[in-house]
Amino acid sequence: MLKVQHITQKLYTVSQVKKGLSGARPGIDPRLVKWCRLKPVYGYHDGLILEDVSSSIQIIMKKILVIGAHPDDCDILAGGCAALWSDRGDEVTFISMTNGNAGHHREDPPELESRRRDEAARAAEVLGGRYEILDNDDGCLVPDLENRLGLIRRIREIDPDLVLTHRPNDYHPDHRYTSILVQDAAYMVTVPLICPEVPHLETNPVIAYLFDEFTRPAAFRTDVVVDIDAVAERKWKALDCHQSQFYEWLAYNMGPGEDSVPTEAAEKLQWLKATWSEHLARPAASCRPLLLETYGSGRGGEVIFAEAFELCEFGSQPGRDELRSIFPV
Ligand SMILES: [Zn+2]
Repeated sequence: MLKVQHITQKLYTVSQVKKGLSGARPGIDPRLVKWCRLKPVYGYHDGLILEDVSSSIQIIMKKILVIGAHPDDCDILAGGCAALWSDRGDEVTFISMTNGNAGHHREDPPELESRRRDEAARAAEVLGGRYEILDNDDGCLVPDLENRLGLIRRIREIDPDLVLTHRPNDYHPDHRYTSILVQDAAYMVTVPLICPEVPHLETNPVIAYLFDEFTRPAAFRTDVVVDIDAVAERKWKALDCHQSQFYEWLAYNMGPGEDSVPTEAAEKLQWLKATWSEHLARPAASCRPLLLETYGSGRGGEVIFAEAFELCEFGSQPGRDELRSIFPV
């Protein structure tokens, strides 16, 4: 059974769907309907992803695939959007290209890997998605043929409308090579004779890069920015799930030191917010002009936390309005 959530009320009659989805019901953003994928399900060929339940119909909106290098990158860079997507009925999958087994200064790698799988699963649950963690060692990811073909297969199986990943100019080799692997898979997902055992995609998904502040060879170009203030608390709770990272490894490696971390859960969360707020507020500060354009001079100027994205040239190239409609703007 395909996953359907939130948007489960009666939306369209079967005849409306067969007529081509004319007449969206109140409460549904017409932009979402416009860009829904067409899928054959239960005999409704060329219909939306549908489930006929006692004369009502349920709809899955979008499939979103976020591909990060480590089992917390997706949450940090797109966790707010993930919450918004899942709230509007979209299906969100996080893939971590590595198992995260080097992200600590004390833990044994096998124990750390197990711990991080649990942390990631809990974080994804908070955000309404699911996490897949691939079996590449942390810090050792290489853009080889095996990884490329594996990613081509997985992208085809998920069949996403949108793929998000790191940009290729990044401080961390796992981030760089994750980006290269997605770029290498981008067009090839449509080539039938590559990995013929998994049906190829008819069209390339839209691909966009996650926000960063690196400037060479090119600074991040903001094509879409999303106000996530309404779900910021959920994002904090998702990040709080990554105990081994924010309260241990990153506190040790990036500061302000493990000694500064409280022991009580509620105090830890407050510490997390105090320590990481400035970092998580950078996309909004950096992308303020597009926030003002997107949300208006009032709201656009007030957004504290946002997530921003740059369209990748190697995926489908939607127009600006279509691109924004894919995101929970
Ligand atoms: Zn990372």
